Amino acid sequence: MKNLPFDLNAAKAWVDKHPTPFYVYDEKGIADCVRRVYDAFSWNPGFCEYFAVKATPTPAILRLLASLGCGADCASVPELVMAGCSGMTGDKLVFSSNETSDAEYREAVAAGAVINFDDITQIDRIIEATGSIPKKVCCRYNPGKFGGTSDIMGHLYDSKFGMTGEQLFDALGRLKEEGAESFGIHAMLASCSLENSYYPKLAEELFAVALEIKDRLGICLDFIDMSGGIGIPYRPEENAVDIKAIGEAVHEVYDRVLKANGLEPAIYTEMGRYITGPYGYLLTSVIGKKHIYKEYIGVDATAACLMRPAIYGSYHHITVLGKENAEPAGVYDVVGSLCENNDKFAVDRELPEVEYGDILAIHDAGAHGHSMGYTYNGKLRPAEYMLRENGELKLIRRAQTMDDYFAVLDCDNEFAEARKKL
Ligand SMILES: *Cc1c(COP(=O)(O)O)cnc(C)c1O
Repeated sequence: MKNLPFDLNAAKAWVDKHPTPFYVYDEKGIADCVRRVYDAFSWNPGFCEYFAVKATPTPAILRLLASLGCGADCASVPELVMAGCSGMTGDKLVFSSNETSDAEYREAVAAGAVINFDDITQIDRIIEATGSIPKKVCCRYNPGKFGGTSDIMGHLYDSKFGMTGEQLFDALGRLKEEGAESFGIHAMLASCSLENSYYPKLAEELFAVALEIKDRLGICLDFIDMSGGIGIPYRPEENAVDIKAIGEAVHEVYDRVLKANGLEPAIYTEMGRYITGPYGYLLTSVIGKKHIYKEYIGVDATAACLMRPAIYGSYHHITVLGKENAEPAGVYDVVGSLCENNDKFAVDRELPEVEYGDILAIHDAGAHGHSMGYTYNGKLRPAEYMLRENGELKLIRRAQTMDDYFAVLDCDNEFAEARKKL
């Protein structure tokens, strides 16, 4: 069983006013999570969480995070603009891109973002694009192999991200020659890790490199960015990580490896999923029940609203509102209306007796949920709401309309005219 910050009565009142499907974010849940992260790293005076904007690119959420001290990790110009307009400016922005155009570099440098170089060749590119090297720079490291945790991003030899160790030293040396003044390193070697040991092991790896950078180049790093990759328990039987224990374990490595050798860089993180994932819900209504070779429950949301189950086979827990404690009545596939057979929120899932009109809450949709949405089959993007601590439901992104969908087409208004006749 997984808890919800609302019940059937609240959801019914919302659904009476706003058609499903829509997303609901728990403001208090997100804020408390950020406070836990800052508490866990409070031993490090320069600590900053740069929220990975791609997880939940919604200004109301970015403004909330900015008010709690967070910066933003961006990978595109629209993300930089949105974060900048939400109160994250200057070096509260990290630009962690790969395969970056000159135009993107110009915008990121103009925004004052910390440039996180994915490759040594990008140093020449940015000089060509902007005429100089920004003062505060970072290099992304790919160690090729990384032992210890089971959640690493496949084989790092296959990962397109980051530089080899030797390239990292060359790049930092070159950046220093070109006039950069403040340096950091970055690595993201896991995805959705539920192991408390991931950040501490990454810290061992990165902090050792920081010492070598000091010895070989005379550069004392100002910051070390451990990026994202901290997981959340999508399944009810999984346990959340202990962020306080993680912070303490990184602290121990920091004092032993860095502080003992005269280095005291700021620690940065770029968590996305951990910050918003558990605090977002996709609400959808049951609009069909079908019995053929299997039992199907049809809903008004589709993989175009939440594609993780379709593309990764990810588990997302489903609560039938008002039936939280009911016994399972059978095993169902919960499916949307796309003309694709992977459009399933759950496969062979035990659920209580479900009726037409029941409201389902799909859990852990707060990160990489709405943001990965698309409009296949002419499915319009759903609205997003913030559930305030006082119980108020506030619209933070309206649903896409048919006019929005047609707006980019060369159609001389004929679709708008056709719609009027419907
Ligand atoms: C995706 C990404 C993150 C966030 O990852 P999560 O798993 O959501 O924490 C952070 N940094 C970079 C560079 C990323 O690409």
